Amino acid sequence: MKISDLYKEDKTILSFEVFPPKKTSPIESVYGALEELCSLKPAYISVTYGAGGTAADNTCAIAAKIKHDYNIEPIAHITCVNSSKAEVEASLDSFKANDIENVLALRGDIVPDMEPKTDFKYASELTEFIKKKGGFHIAGACYPEVHPEAKDEVSDIINLKKKVDAGAEFLISQLFYDNRTFYEFEKRCRLAGINVPIEAGIMPVINTKQIQRMVSLCGASLPAKFVRIMNRYENNPEALREAGIAYAVDQCVDLIANGVSGIHLYTMNNPYVARRITEAVDKLL
Ligand code: FAD
Repeated sequence: MKISDLYKEDKTILSFEVFPPKKTSPIESVYGALEELCSLKPAYISVTYGAGGTAADNTCAIAAKIKHDYNIEPIAHITCVNSSKAEVEASLDSFKANDIENVLALRGDIVPDMEPKTDFKYASELTEFIKKKGGFHIAGACYPEVHPEAKDEVSDIINLKKKVDAGAEFLISQLFYDNRTFYEFEKRCRLAGINVPIEAGIMPVINTKQIQRMVSLCGASLPAKFVRIMNRYENNPEALREAGIAYAVDQCVDLIANGVSGIHLYTMNNPYVARRITEAVDKLL
């Protein structure tokens, strides 16, 4: 199924992201969480990919399981920063052999101490390569608060347009905690002629370690309201989780009321949190 067809109905869709286990854990270690997440019947599930290329087999196996065991459409992430054309081609071939039709084409983060390969410099080049190969529906990533390496807001949007022109049929956004940044970003996209559906990335905060990691990795800005909640409950893990869920639900309700195409929930493989949010917004979609 072509995921971009899901946006044709005039309603917001809810989709999930899951990640394969670390190299040190067996793939089966995520199966319990996966079963519970699939029982929530999201519109589709995306499966992340290690930028080192190491977890490619697990991405494919998990995406195939989502499709064949749970009858939910998967989208496999694929990165190119540390891959040659031949390696990308091999991953695409194994996706194809497993009936995985949708891919999220990414550059991937530059891994410290790992010299990037040179076949692809940007996600737009990977998108063009996959498009030329044929047989896949392609999505791309976008950054409401501007990609951390971008020269400025304008060049980031110009670069995003190149990715869409190369074949990205819809976009999934980086996480954010202030919905206004997403609405302003969406406006900039439309002004630049980027007219594909854009899904809003929502990551419920459930512990303090996660907040620190997230801010250092993607530079998401934290609104005062959010910081106040996190500070108040930093020593009470249960209350912090409840507050994190409530904050995410509040963001989702506002996004749905504003008619966004979709909400992509970064589940962190946590079915409890995904269930609470799904149940809270299900009737609003
Ligand atoms: P690009 O679109 O290539 O952009 C990277 C930078 O280059 C930007 O600053 C952009 O402005 C600039 N740029 C782009 N094109 C040009 C050009 N032609 N000329 C000059 N500059 C240009 N990482 C993983 O390793 N695995 C995953 O599974 C994964 N999943 C993700 C899912 C989502 C929804 C998101 C938002 C991110 C994900 N990431 C993942 C992280 C992502 O790989 C990083 O954010 C990475 O730094 C950029 O990837 P990109 O595909 O957006 O890159």
